[in-house]
Amino acid sequence: MAAKLSFSYSKMTLYKECPQKYKFRYILKIPEKPKYYFAFGSALHKVMEYLYSSLKPPFPPLEKVLAFFKADWESSTYEEKGYPSKLKEQEGYLEGIKIIEAYYKKHLQDELSPLATEFRTTVDIDGLSVIGIVDRIDYLGEGKVSIVDYKTGKKINREPDQLMMYQKLMTGNKDLENIVKNRYPQTDNIEVSNMLFYHLPSLDSQTFEPASEEEIKEFWSRVLTVAADIKAGNFAPDPGETKCRFCDYKDMCPVWKLSPSELQELRGQENQESAKSPMDILSDKIDAYGKALLEAETLEGDIIAAMRKEDINRHFGKEFEVSLLTEEKLDFKDKQKVVETLKEFNLLGKTLVPTLGKIKELLESDFIKPEQREALLKLARYSTEYKLNCSKTEE
Ligand code: SF4
Repeated sequence: MAAKLSFSYSKMTLYKECPQKYKFRYILKIPEKPKYYFAFGSALHKVMEYLYSSLKPPFPPLEKVLAFFKADWESSTYEEKGYPSKLKEQEGYLEGIKIIEAYYKKHLQDELSPLATEFRTTVDIDGLSVIGIVDRIDYLGEGKVSIVDYKTGKKINREPDQLMMYQKLMTGNKDLENIVKNRYPQTDNIEVSNMLFYHLPSLDSQTFEPASEEEIKEFWSRVLTVAADIKAGNFAPDPGETKCRFCDYKDMCPVWKLSPSELQELRGQENQESAKSPMDILSDKIDAYGKALLEAETLEGDIIAAMRKEDINRHFGKEFEVSLLTEEKLDFKDKQKVVETLKEFNLLGKTLVPTLGKIKELLESDFIKPEQREALLKLARYSTEYKLNCSKTEE
């Protein structure tokens, strides 16, 4: 059975932005550079989780919340967060404090019943393994729940697609059902009755009614189309001036490395890829694997030759290192002559079957007299075999 495609709303968004970028990020697993807005958003999400950690308001004291934010903020450098300078990082920190204080003041008296924060669920559906992490789920009574998603960017209003994904994942969700029933055992039907984006910098929220069945169906068919394209290996680049300018993969992207005609050709290939059957794709992978093995063999030979020439047995690339292992080999060209010699010395019985290993054992044993060893070794050929051990260099 084909493995389920691991999918999420953010993967779908990235694929829609540019399939080639998706390929770099999720197929080739090349990480993007840290982005300060992700670090900022993540720090505020952690604070929100901390605020509702007891799941029973009131909040922890404000000093504790700010201390929590400070400790988390200081656990990474400005470079690790993706800020261009320490000064900008400090501005981010002060903005974070302002947002936390304002949120705290506005919501301290709320009578909320949060059921879960950072609620993570994986649902297997239509050949996909869909992962969703909901920032907060509130209980509204009588089996009704509200889904809250915090936003920390500049943009306040958004399309409800992400919330539709959550609605799809939460409908009939066993993990959610267990949480509700543990707290409210009398509850029968659990339904998503309200969904909202909460924009932390402005303390503004954008609330949506649950999407109708028709809307969810239409949304889900868009999800399945994206998933089918990914499964078919359709990663044709979709460049755009702004997105390419800020894309971390620009230096390696074919759009910026190839001539227009080469790019056209690549796009043609990508489109052909998407039309291929799974068995054709498997055949292509087998060929690619075979070619990679042949290439690896050639490279191994070149590396061994260079290391022997330089008389070194360990060397480093940027990410990998190799060690040169040597093994002395002993072989006999004229096997018949060896058997005759063993017979002559009455040693054939000692080897049972005169395999190379057995003869080597015999040569190293005490059964054999020095002149017999010498006679046998005269029939031997010596060679040295070189092997490479390659591993990822530890950082
Ligand atoms: S540089 Fe542009 S076309 Fe290339 S991967 Fe990035 S966004 Fe896509």
